[in-house]
Amino acid sequence: MPNLLKVAKFGGTSMANMEAMKRCAAIIVSDPDKKIIVVSATSGTTDQLTKLFNSTLLDEKREILAGIRTRHLDICNSLREPEAVLDTVTSRIDELEEISLSNRTVTPQLKDLILSYGEILSSMIFTQVLYEENGDDTKIEWLDAREVIITDHSHTNAEPDLAAIEKRADEILIPRFENRRFVTQGFIGKTAGGTTTTIGRGGSDYSAALFAEAINADVLEIWTDVTAVYTTDPRIVPDARPLTEISFDEAAELSTFGAKVLHPATLVPAVRKNIRVYVGSSFHPEKPGTWILKDTRSKPVIRAISLRRNQTLFTVHSLDMLHRHGFLAKLFEVLAKYKISVDLVTTSEVSVSLTLDTDVNAPGRDMLTEVVINELKSFSQVEIQKDLALVAMVGNNLHATSGLSGPVFGALQDFNIRLICHGASSHNMCFLVNEGSAEKIVQILHEKFIGH
Ligand code: ADP
Ligand code: ASP
Ligand code: MG
Repeated sequence: MPNLLKVAKFGGTSMANMEAMKRCAAIIVSDPDKKIIVVSATSGTTDQLTKLFNSTLLDEKREILAGIRTRHLDICNSLREPEAVLDTVTSRIDELEEISLSNRTVTPQLKDLILSYGEILSSMIFTQVLYEENGDDTKIEWLDAREVIITDHSHTNAEPDLAAIEKRADEILIPRFENRRFVTQGFIGKTAGGTTTTIGRGGSDYSAALFAEAINADVLEIWTDVTAVYTTDPRIVPDARPLTEISFDEAAELSTFGAKVLHPATLVPAVRKNIRVYVGSSFHPEKPGTWILKDTRSKPVIRAISLRRNQTLFTVHSLDMLHRHGFLAKLFEVLAKYKISVDLVTTSEVSVSLTLDTDVNAPGRDMLTEVVINELKSFSQVEIQKDLALVAMVGNNLHATSGLSGPVFGALQDFNIRLICHGASSHNMCFLVNEGSAEKIVQILHEKFIGH
């Protein structure tokens, strides 16, 4: 058995082409402890598949399919032995074509089936890349993640069934680690009845964490296109700093509030089993990455800043709230009925404000539809504001640190802050602001509280 048991996940840009795949293969070959390799679809493919099932135009569908075919066959053709996978990959793409050009109604089930092809294709090709780089094909096995990742029926945003996953891992994976490593897919699963599901956009990180939990891994590695978790998104602040360490709690807040580098649910399994998480770059594996740990040596008040775009604020007013009980329960009952997940909540005597993601194109995000609004309007007035973004300052003991609000509000005096959440979590302070000024706000706060 290996010294340490590791699960390594490689994201979409890490799977983008043969060169990128070879870099990932080198990372795997040099470390026999990596027993489960979880891969994303090649970069852009999941977006293309989403466009495919959303399109009603036959020509457009054909064009998307042709793009997917070319991208994958190009990678196959640059293998040393293309014939080893060409037939299988081609027949999977033919299947995808048939499914998506048939006149079936686009149900959530069909969306998930179509989406699953992204990861199926990348993992099949990458397995062959690994055979070729590893030089020992007996030790690498392609695994259909659906054999292990069992979920409920909430298509496009399915919930994993932890007990079933653990049972499958005990049966299929753990007894076979002695002389094998597995390459499998992120993002996809199946119901107990065998229907393909997906666990939400960006979900490959979460899949890898679920595998890590199920096999009791020591380390979960997330290999991506940035060298580490940074003090903020380096696309917004180019001189953001890489972090050497960050706690589970801080990283969970950071990802919940928009840091795409980790899917928000990734740390939940890691926390449950106290699995150390490493974030590094598959492009520069030699550069130091970030360790996400239960406890960190340093505990700065402000470690990092995140930005979550596309937010909607809805405010529900009702004079019935005045000195009454039961109003909040009634409001949340409606939200629960339509499976609407809200993020921030603030209340006053006669109104409640809540935020949720606006993104109309994100599969699986439940939205504030007319039906929901009308139901809320039957007992209150509803106001909706869009084009907002959430900025979160993440760190330690923010709720108990005096002297913080003065400088924060001073720095933001020129901006309209629509809503503030502070105090509920010791690890964050966040503001709802206009989308148009959000990046500027992140830059100002980063400069003032984190610096270079
Ligand atoms: P992958 O395809 O490997 O899953 P993602 O695109 O999902 O990669 O996540 C990596 C991206 O996350 C980076 O390119 C970066 O722009 C973004 N990001 C946002 N916030 C941060 C942060 N605090 N640190 C590092 N990257 C971040
Ligand atoms: N391929 C999926 C997506 O793009 C899952 C992932 O990459 O994490 O959302
Ligand atoms: Mg990702």
